[in-house]
Amino acid sequence: MTTAAGCSDDTKDGDAHFLAEVRAFLVQELSEDLREAGRRTTGFHTEIDAAREWHARLYRRGWVAPGWPREHGGCGWSVRRRFLFEQECARNDAPIIFGTGIRSIGPLMIAAGTEAQKARFLEPILSGEDLWCQGFSEPGAGSDLAALTTRAETDGNFYVVTGRKIWTTGAHLANRMFALVRTAHMERPQDGITFLLIDMDSPGVSVRPVVTIDGEHDFNEVTFEAVRVPLTNRIGEENHGWAMAKQLMRFARSNNTTTGSLRRAWRMLEREVARCQPGPAFALRLSEVSIALTAMEALELKLLAAGRLDGEDEMASSLMKTTATELHQKISELALEASGPLAQRYELAPSGELQMSLAARKYFATRAATIYSGTNEIHRNIMARHLRQ
Ligand SMILES: Cc1cc2nc3c(=O)[nH]c(=O)nc-3n(C[C@H](O)[C@H](O)[C@H](O)COP(=O)(O)OP(=O)(O)OC[C@H]3O[C@@H](n4cnc5c(N)ncnc54)[C@H](O)[C@@H]3O)c2cc1C
Repeated sequence: MTTAAGCSDDTKDGDAHFLAEVRAFLVQELSEDLREAGRRTTGFHTEIDAAREWHARLYRRGWVAPGWPREHGGCGWSVRRRFLFEQECARNDAPIIFGTGIRSIGPLMIAAGTEAQKARFLEPILSGEDLWCQGFSEPGAGSDLAALTTRAETDGNFYVVTGRKIWTTGAHLANRMFALVRTAHMERPQDGITFLLIDMDSPGVSVRPVVTIDGEHDFNEVTFEAVRVPLTNRIGEENHGWAMAKQLMRFARSNNTTTGSLRRAWRMLEREVARCQPGPAFALRLSEVSIALTAMEALELKLLAAGRLDGEDEMASSLMKTTATELHQKISELALEASGPLAQRYELAPSGELQMSLAARKYFATRAATIYSGTNEIHRNIMARHLRQ
């Protein structure tokens, strides 16, 4: 297990010392190639080779899991340190790692996994050897997730899983999936759901790409045909997976700062603006968005420090989700507008393929921000429920 050697001790060091340490690390490890890849990022993670390389460098420094406890190889940083770190990475165009293992399933395993599961799965998440994807949504189960029908039946020491998942981000890259499956039909649809860990190379798993409007391949449809999964790959009790999923979503929210991605989008907008001569009306809209971004960062820091973004405070996390994603869209709209006719050009990707301009890809990718992690309509329902109480 990696030690957290090299992580600053929050209790002793001031922010200035911490930031100096982070900046020195970025100067040393964040090569121009990695920065360039970071600047090309439009979706959840940077192109996979650069994302893996950055993951490896963070891992060597002991900084790949800022929110994990030290005894499990994390930094154990306070939320303030995590925020400062993320902001500094964003300001320096660091790549975004493929982070489902670090942000979602790793923390759930630490909280609710068996000792055997922790021993087997945590270290490969930290080292980057294992990449995880999330198999929750199905063709008939998105906002109404409890309607899921992928089923698992017991056969000796195995579950046999049959069904279909959709919108599975990164399933084509991941070697493992955490999934919700139906093991019983009970009165409440949330009951009878079980949380399983599935090896993507198990016989019977097939992955089909779903290419989105920006020409990118992040999504997939995953089909299970009698896939055998050991009973020991279950987290929590059989039929009580819903509670595990809720706990995982809380971890995912609290282990991810929202405004880091906005700051990255803002930097892209700045680069587009530098190439054009914005008139006064456009400059005014830019400064309005810049103020909104600064206000968002201040709000996030305040809510984080008050412990209100740990997922328990539904009002706070729904407010952040809706406001931040709509601001993200606004930033990408301005970038598209700033790039003008250049937005319609196709560019040569490092892979040698022609792809849409960065501003156009960013614009299309950001349309999804108000859909994933619960649609903004669903989050507005949650806020309305709280306001009524
Ligand atoms: C970029 C991206 C990545 C994703 N990655 C993953 C992943 O890795 N794994 C995974 O499991 N899933 C993933 N998803 C799926 C995502 O969780 C679902 O798309 C989302 O929950 C919405 O479900 P749906 O698409 O079935 O839409 P629906 O639930 O069918 O909703 C359709 C429309 O109806 C509205 N609506 C639905 N119910 C209500 C209601 N009660 N009140 C008001 N309005 C309502 C919605 O807001 C939406 O506008 C991803 C989605 C996106 C866009």
